[in-house]
Amino acid sequence: MAGLKPGNLIRLSKSCVGEAEKLAVMGVLDREFLGMGAEVQQFEQALTAFFGRPAVCVVNGTAALQLALQACGIGPGDEVLVQSLTYVASFQAISATGAKAVACDLDAGTLTLDWRDAEKRLTPRTKAVMPVHYSGGVGALDEIYAFARKHSLRVIEDAAHAFGTTHQGKRIGGFGDIACFSFDGIKNITSGEGGCIVTDDADVLRRIQDARLLGVEKDTEKRYTGQRSWEFDVTAQGWRYHMSNIMAAIGIEQLKRFPQMAEARQQLARRYDELLHGHERIQALPRDYAIVVPHIYVVRIQDLRDRKMLQSRLLEQGIQTGMHYQPNHWLSLYRDSAASPLPLTDAVFPELLSLPLHPDLDKIGVEHICARLKELI
Ligand SMILES: *Cc1c(COP(=O)(O)O)cnc(C)c1O
Repeated sequence: MAGLKPGNLIRLSKSCVGEAEKLAVMGVLDREFLGMGAEVQQFEQALTAFFGRPAVCVVNGTAALQLALQACGIGPGDEVLVQSLTYVASFQAISATGAKAVACDLDAGTLTLDWRDAEKRLTPRTKAVMPVHYSGGVGALDEIYAFARKHSLRVIEDAAHAFGTTHQGKRIGGFGDIACFSFDGIKNITSGEGGCIVTDDADVLRRIQDARLLGVEKDTEKRYTGQRSWEFDVTAQGWRYHMSNIMAAIGIEQLKRFPQMAEARQQLARRYDELLHGHERIQALPRDYAIVVPHIYVVRIQDLRDRKMLQSRLLEQGIQTGMHYQPNHWLSLYRDSAASPLPLTDAVFPELLSLPLHPDLDKIGVEHICARLKELI
C-alpha cells in the first residue's frame, strides 16, 4: 500500500495518555511549581505502595541504573556482569560510573542472562550483576540471585521492561536487592521521561536521594516541605537527576490506570501467541502473560536471512516493526566488553523481530499483523 496515510500506520509502540494526564499537567502549570516538590513526593508514595518497598524517582531509567550502581560504591576498577542483548542504556549506566560492563551471553529461550556464562566471566573485580528483564520476563532470576549470593555480588535489576510483572507471587521491585524502572514515553507506564529505584537498603536510598540533587545532603526533605537548602554539605559526587513535578503528575495518573493498560498488553500478547503458535519458523518467547506485563512483543524467525527486507515489506503494509537490540559488544565503545565470544547472542539477534505492542492496539490489529507476517515468510 504505497501512499499509506500516516494515520493508518500500526505503530511499533507509542505513548498512551488521556485527559487525566493533560489535566494533571495543567494543574502543575497553574500552580507554577514545576521543579521537584509535592507531585514527586506523591508519585513516590504511590509507587512505594505499589511495590511495598521504598521507591525514589529520578529523571530517567538510565539515571536510575547509574545512581543505583554508584550508591553500591561501584566505580573505576570494578566490573559489572550484564547481558549483551539489552538497550545501550544498561551499558552506558555502568560505564558512567567508571566501572566496566562485562558482556555476557544469554539463555536463547528466554533471552535473559545466562548466569552460567556470567560465572565464567567472574574476576576479582566483579562487584555486581545486572539482570535485564527482557520484554518483561525475568528468566532464571532465582538462580541469578543464588549465583550473586555465592559470589557476594550486588544485584541491580534492569527492570525497565518489567513494570508490573510478578515473580513467585511478588512484584518485580517488591523483593530482592535493587530494581530500576524506566517511565520513558513508551514503557509500561510513562511520566514523559522518568525512572525509579526500588530497594529497602536504607543506605542506598539515602545516597540516591542526595545524588539525584547534586549531592546536596537532605535536599529531598527540604523540597518536600516547600523549602530550599541554602546551607548544606556535599560529600559525594552528585548529578542533576531529580524528577520534576510535571513528570510526576503524568506518572501519578498513569499508575492509576495501569491495571487496564497492563491487561491490554497481556491480552494482545496472548492473542499473538495464539495466532503464531505452531508456525514452523516463527517462535514466540515463552512467557506466562498471567504474570508478565510485556513491554515489547518479540519473535524469533528461524533462518531469517534478510530482516531489513521483511521489515520494509511489513512497513509497506502499514506495520512498523523493530529489533531489540543490537548486541552491545558489537558497538565500538564496548568492543572489549566480551573477553570470549557470545555465540548465542550473535546467533539469535539477526533472527529477532519486534511486532507492534501498546495498549491502543486491538486484537484486529494483531490478527492483521500476524496474517501479513505469515504471508511474507
Ligand atoms: C528504556 C530502557 C532503559 C532506560 O530507560 P530510560 O528511561 O530510557 O533512560 C534501560 N534499560 C532498558 C532495557 C530499557 O529498555
